[in-house]
Amino acid sequence: MQEPKKATRFSISGDWGGAKPKITKELINIVFDIVEELFGKKLNYPVLITNFPLSENPIACYAMKEGCYQVNLSASSGLSWCQIVYQLAHELCHLNSNYSDSIGHKYKWLEESLCEMCSIAVLIALSKRWNKTAMYRYDRGYSASVKKYIESLPSMIGYMPKNRGAYLVWFDSNVGRLESSCDNRELNGVVANYLYKNVFSIHPTAWNCVGMLNKWNCHQNLNFTSYKESWREQCNDSMEVNTVLNAM
Ligand SMILES: [Zn+2]
Repeated sequence: MQEPKKATRFSISGDWGGAKPKITKELINIVFDIVEELFGKKLNYPVLITNFPLSENPIACYAMKEGCYQVNLSASSGLSWCQIVYQLAHELCHLNSNYSDSIGHKYKWLEESLCEMCSIAVLIALSKRWNKTAMYRYDRGYSASVKKYIESLPSMIGYMPKNRGAYLVWFDSNVGRLESSCDNRELNGVVANYLYKNVFSIHPTAWNCVGMLNKWNCHQNLNFTSYKESWREQCNDSMEVNTVLNAM
């Protein structure tokens, strides 16, 4: 009897700049492993990952293709491992947070910020486990490069509120800008760094709550307080969601 095929999590296409597909796939497999660990779940459909080196931004397309999610990356080459991990972790966070179930609402900035935070969390996890991964044999010193890359991210060197009070003051003066544009990278980075340091790095089970985003009609929420209440309800008032919301 034939062994059942291991479910395929992804396939790759596009321009990876001469990198060996086998190595690119090994790297991508590690990103999937870490993201699955964070969210405590697997995606329902495989992901078609296409790299366009000349494209401006990576994107998770809302439309599916032949039963697959479509993620387009814009890594400068298949050898830019940190950039691939950074971009892919962000887009996989969108897929895991039901990004296409509620589209175009004004609280998408939170999803964008959490996806930036996912990139940070995945890169940190990767730097810690690099020497135990299949990638180690290709570069035995790369863990240090991952650390350097993390330290150079705009979200890691930008404004960092010292405590919740400082965050709330910052938030009050920026909520208008956040709600008018979901992908203001500078502002998303402040939220991402603040929530990572104060909540998600200490309580990793909080990722479960990110997996509950967009499961209701977010257009019904007239303000951010009402949006947070809907999120709390969606998570059955869990300890995790309260930990996240108490920090915001
Ligand atoms: Zn995004």
